[in-house]
Amino acid sequence: MEVLDAVVVGAGQAGLSTSFHLRRRGVEHVVLDGDAAPGGAWQHRWDSLTMRDVHGVAALPDAEAPTGDGPANLVVPASFAAYERDHQLPVERPVTVRRVEDAGDGSGLLVVHTDRGDLRTRTLVSATGTWTRPFVPSYPGRDTFVGPQWHTHDYPGPEAFRGLRTAVVGGGASAVQLLGEVAPVTDTLWFTRRPPVWRTDDFTPEAGRAAVAMVEDRVRRGLPPASVVSVTGLVLREQEHAAADLGAYRRRAMFTALEADAVRLPDGTREPVDAVLWATGFRPAVGHLAPLRLRSERGGITLDGTTAVADPRVQLVGYGPSASTIGATRAGRAAARAVAAWLERRGDLSPTG
Ligand SMILES: Cc1cc2nc3c(=O)[nH]c(=O)nc-3n(C[C@H](O)[C@H](O)[C@H](O)COP(=O)(O)OP(=O)(O)OC[C@H]3O[C@@H](n4cnc5c(N)ncnc54)[C@H](O)[C@@H]3O)c2cc1C
Repeated sequence: MEVLDAVVVGAGQAGLSTSFHLRRRGVEHVVLDGDAAPGGAWQHRWDSLTMRDVHGVAALPDAEAPTGDGPANLVVPASFAAYERDHQLPVERPVTVRRVEDAGDGSGLLVVHTDRGDLRTRTLVSATGTWTRPFVPSYPGRDTFVGPQWHTHDYPGPEAFRGLRTAVVGGGASAVQLLGEVAPVTDTLWFTRRPPVWRTDDFTPEAGRAAVAMVEDRVRRGLPPASVVSVTGLVLREQEHAAADLGAYRRRAMFTALEADAVRLPDGTREPVDAVLWATGFRPAVGHLAPLRLRSERGGITLDGTTAVADPRVQLVGYGPSASTIGATRAGRAAARAVAAWLERRGDLSPTG
């Protein structure tokens, strides 16, 4: 079986940036992507999310940031498709990586098991994002609630909620944004575990750096990466003002249980609801790395930069502090540098490569 210098898993912002920099350094690699088309998670965002609604999509290396007023699930994928083409990146799709493990023969190689066969590689860059792992917290009665339950992952657009009294759960940016769409068409109740932290001043670069540093510190200590919203705070934009005028952002303490057609509040009161929208976030999609036992006893994968401390053949990009488009672009560069350094140290890549 051919041995590659690197396999990148995922062709979103993080994987494409990594591939660009690996190519520039002369590292022979492939990018395996589970989706049928270019665009990473952006191709799956809901139809009503326009480029005006996103928080900003950073440029990929040696390219302009995607622009346009259209739906983000068309604009960004078109831009990624052109990028892959223009830079002739070695993306193969659809290929799903099921698991990655040590070859177990003393060769120091990794074996990448996919739904299209196995590959052997000296290094691996995991750039799998979070979209494939929507998180729904478990509450008593969740399975007995008779009405529809949606997650941000499969948000059907505001019209599906018309006439349905809806509990929106979650204290992050997605909850704020989805309430902005749903509240003008139906009655909503907003539930969060902690009181939301609102940002009133303009978002400064210092605040951004503080948020990233906080998550960086967590992954350096092997903790699960946390939401950066706790540091950056939430903001209401113009498109959310109508919902705000309707009182949609009056937060309620998290309910304690779901019943067939209601939620049970902490004081025991029963509050009828017809639907639940879980805007409760995502978890890193790292299940394919399980055989490598990268997870620390503190629940996260300990990183030094982008390198997994437990197995330096593995880089994680778009994970923790680099889980933003700007962070993913930068992490791709750092990961390619770390891969090249690893290969050089082992004599598998010439220093000029
Ligand atoms: C609703 C929402 C809105 C957001 N808005 C913004 C924003 O406005 N600005 C911003 O900077 N950030 C935003 N983010 C965060 C941002 O999307 C990400 O940080 C960034 O786009 C993720 O890029 P990525 O390459 O890490 O992952 P993705 O774009 O998710 O790409 C991962 C790729 O890996 C593939 N993959 C996954 N598992 C496997 C596997 N086992 N085998 C093969 N392939 C696999 C997937 O098919 C996918 O193509 C948002 C996130 C969410 C959830």
